[in-house]
Amino acid sequence: MPERPYTYYDFTLSLCPQCLRRIDAKIVFENNHVFMLKNCPEHGFSKVLIATDVEYYKNIRNYNKPSEIPLKFNTTTHYGCPYDCGLCADHEQHSCLTVVEITDRCNLTCPTCYAMSSPHYGRHRTVEEVEKMLDIIVANEGQPDVVQISGGEPTIHPDFFAILDIAKQKPIKHLMVNTNGIRIAKDKAFAERLAAYMPDFEVYLQFDSFKPEALQTLRGKDLTDIRLQALEHLNELNLSTTLVVTLQKGLNDDEIGKIIEFAVQQRCVRGVTFQPVQIAGRLEHFNPATDRITLTDVRQKILGQTSIFQANDIIPVPCNPDALAMGYALKLGGQIFPMTRYIDPAHLLNNSRNTIVYEQDEQLHQHMLKIFSTGISVDRVESNFKELLCCLPQIHAPGLSYDNLFRIIIMRFIDAWDFDVRAIKKSCVHIVSKDGRMIPFETMNLLYRDEKEAHAKQLQKEREAVLL
Ligand code: SF4
Repeated sequence: MPERPYTYYDFTLSLCPQCLRRIDAKIVFENNHVFMLKNCPEHGFSKVLIATDVEYYKNIRNYNKPSEIPLKFNTTTHYGCPYDCGLCADHEQHSCLTVVEITDRCNLTCPTCYAMSSPHYGRHRTVEEVEKMLDIIVANEGQPDVVQISGGEPTIHPDFFAILDIAKQKPIKHLMVNTNGIRIAKDKAFAERLAAYMPDFEVYLQFDSFKPEALQTLRGKDLTDIRLQALEHLNELNLSTTLVVTLQKGLNDDEIGKIIEFAVQQRCVRGVTFQPVQIAGRLEHFNPATDRITLTDVRQKILGQTSIFQANDIIPVPCNPDALAMGYALKLGGQIFPMTRYIDPAHLLNNSRNTIVYEQDEQLHQHMLKIFSTGISVDRVESNFKELLCCLPQIHAPGLSYDNLFRIIIMRFIDAWDFDVRAIKKSCVHIVSKDGRMIPFETMNLLYRDEKEAHAKQLQKEREAVLL
């Protein structure tokens, strides 16, 4: 009998990348790659690469854990996912990380910007508006795990520190500032003022490349010196920092290993987050047919470009396993000791919050003994890792502090090309909108941001007509 060129694996709902109407989609395997096949009645057929590793893709489902939901939902489920975001009652994960955009404006005009920011775009939110947004997060979450003050570029907001003061008074477990680093690099006193918000405070620093030409393409400017100057200030202050790398195929994906190895040597750096470009907003110099990079692609490059992590060290994050992968390690004396390999996915089915307790795990215990036998003394007794970030494993490691943490995160925000309704319901990075909804990062940039909302309303109208 004739055969298809692929193995059929699954069925889901996706979006047409052009009109954003919801359409049927098949997931198929072909040549150890995973593709999504879909057909829009108006815009035709598309075949989209969604993973470069069939085994990893299949294994994602083993990392699902019971969904944690927010204390309240802000919208009802009516039009069908993803046209009800708010979060609607059908969503399957609370806000592990919530983004508060305190300004639309930025001191850069990056050719790659999902928020379309620039020095003159939109406006700053007032302090009252920001406080209202923070209160909405608290109402939804009780004690939000991570809140990220973002923009635009938040450090140019005239009331930036007043906003941080207010945020610090809220019951937020971990506060972050998402920045391009220009202000931190140019103004040491500004960095010192930031450091006063420690502990439970972190800088989420853009750090895309060491190559001037790649920075020019992504940021419209060679920011090499700015990035290094910012890091110098942050290192001096030991201000907890995550390096954030926006990844574009063929541009900076050859630097993944180099960036990790550099990050390990930085006193202030607690990890690196790799974010493949999401096709949304302003996206110049980008061809969706050739420039998209998948989560598994990034994972393979991490494993290929550095020997720090092995395959079982970079695993799906249980909150949102389609979009997030993590490698979690201890940093002791400039050396890295991977920990994620000790997570047993079998535990996840019953435990919503996975815990590694090294004293009770023989294998891990031996690993820790090996670490301590290196002669590195661990004499700081600060807060331990337990309860640090909800979507990451909780490690009970007395005597170690946040300074001893090093994590790799791959955060692949799906876009209209690889959109999967099954996966989006587990989205756990949300943006609090100007009108008080909590919207998944992915759908915000596709459907709900600024002028896009008019199109979303049109799609809702069409859905209403079908539902009647
Ligand atoms: S993505 Fe979540 S919040 Fe949005 S419509 Fe779907 S289930 Fe509802």
